[in-house]
Amino acid sequence: MAVITETETRGVEDASKRPLFLIMYKSDTIAAIATPMTGSGIGVLRISGVESFAIAEKVFEPWKKGKILSEQSAYTVHYGNIVDEGEIIDEVIVLIMKAPHSYTAEDTVEINCHGGSFVMKKILELLLRKGARLAEPGEFTKRAFLNGRIDLSQAEAVMDVIQAKNNYALQSSVSQLKGSLVGKIKDLREKILYEMAFIESALDDPEHYSLDGYPTVLREKLDRFIEEADSILLSSEEGRVIREGIRTAIIGKPNAGKSSLMNALLGSSRAIVTDMAGTTRDILEEQIQLRGLSLSILDTAGIRKTDDPVESIGVERAKKAAEDADLILYVVDSSDILDENDREIIAGLADKNVIILLNKNDLPTVTKMEMVTEQLQKPALYISARSGEGLEELSDLIESMFLSGGISFNDQVYLTNIRHQTAMRNAKNSLMMVMESIEKGLPEDFYSIDLMDAYESLGEITGEAVGEDLVNEIFSKFCMGK
Ligand code: GDP
Repeated sequence: MAVITETETRGVEDASKRPLFLIMYKSDTIAAIATPMTGSGIGVLRISGVESFAIAEKVFEPWKKGKILSEQSAYTVHYGNIVDEGEIIDEVIVLIMKAPHSYTAEDTVEINCHGGSFVMKKILELLLRKGARLAEPGEFTKRAFLNGRIDLSQAEAVMDVIQAKNNYALQSSVSQLKGSLVGKIKDLREKILYEMAFIESALDDPEHYSLDGYPTVLREKLDRFIEEADSILLSSEEGRVIREGIRTAIIGKPNAGKSSLMNALLGSSRAIVTDMAGTTRDILEEQIQLRGLSLSILDTAGIRKTDDPVESIGVERAKKAAEDADLILYVVDSSDILDENDREIIAGLADKNVIILLNKNDLPTVTKMEMVTEQLQKPALYISARSGEGLEELSDLIESMFLSGGISFNDQVYLTNIRHQTAMRNAKNSLMMVMESIEKGLPEDFYSIDLMDAYESLGEITGEAVGEDLVNEIFSKFCMGK
């Protein structure tokens, strides 16, 4: 096994400011398969740590005899074979990166071999035999964090990039990866730190620093800090929509065409469509992509009064789903009269985000748009789930509702991560407490306590104030080889 040889603090501006476990971090050399084990054209194995070159040299036979990997320039590629005791395992290209200019900020070797799971495993086993340790899930990214190359929010963004399911989620993660969130948080943290330092100095050295009139000055500054926190927090709702999709509930009385609509949107036949009223008993959930946004659609059981116990559970769940939804698509059967079921549904929708869909537009119209909109003042469209008519307009409408003003990733950050949201909220609360202390005329050292709490909470986002357990938990969610 690899020997622990070096304390890693490379790339860190001031190691003494970091939590102890970060300073104590030692690096052995790790290896893993970075590409999926599915059999593909190319597979990549990664080695990272001080022994990377030594280990790679033991298994790599360069095409040009006598070439020594560690003596080659960084970012160069080298052609040759992976060889185990004279036996060629695969023909490969090896890419070398030197500390601190690599993903992990450590010496790194990437072996590009053929992407068969057997051959990749065989090379991995060989690397482990030659002294590397099998990397834990997320350990490469964890090292990038521990070595100070990226902060915790950026490390989490790596995972978000991997998991992004739509264009906005991807853009938001990439912007966070580039440091958009860290920038804002660090800025706010520094300003808070300045105030703490000022109070401290004034209490220590009243001759040179006066606290006269300071509460008023601080109150003004706090107003701006809280405003900043609020604007970041406000983005978190949009952030959730970006990440998880718009929670959309399709509701309407039985047979209105809810399942048909869902299928039309999905372009497949996941939900069961029947002619018998009340057959969609459960809630189906599907993700659909719409102009770069994700809609997470709940196809709910038809809402109507029922004595059937199984069906009535479905109705309850439909009402609940409608309650929690970001958007409700209320499907009306326009070929039929508006009945008591519709009136009951309408009664519960007044304060919701609703689009009225007059379905079955391919049949003669019995219920006209005005008959619904005069009872429920919401945007409405004629559609046909069967022919697909009106679905483009529906997409336009949803897009304009959720992307009003458009989403920009240049100057706005989106708090997509719940952990970050909680920390931000705590920071804001602490700042409010400082306000309260000022209002109550409490002495200045009271301010410091809450300022410190705000400072710490913000540090949780960037990873400057987190414990080892949390770091381990965050990185354990990563996939292997990342
Ligand atoms: P649900 O109970 O609200 O989920 O309704 P379904 O989607 O199961 O549809 C009920 C019936 O209406 C089925 O026979 C569908 O084929 C039919 N249907 C749904 N949408 C349309 C449409 O736009 N036009 C016509 N002509 N029939 C439709």
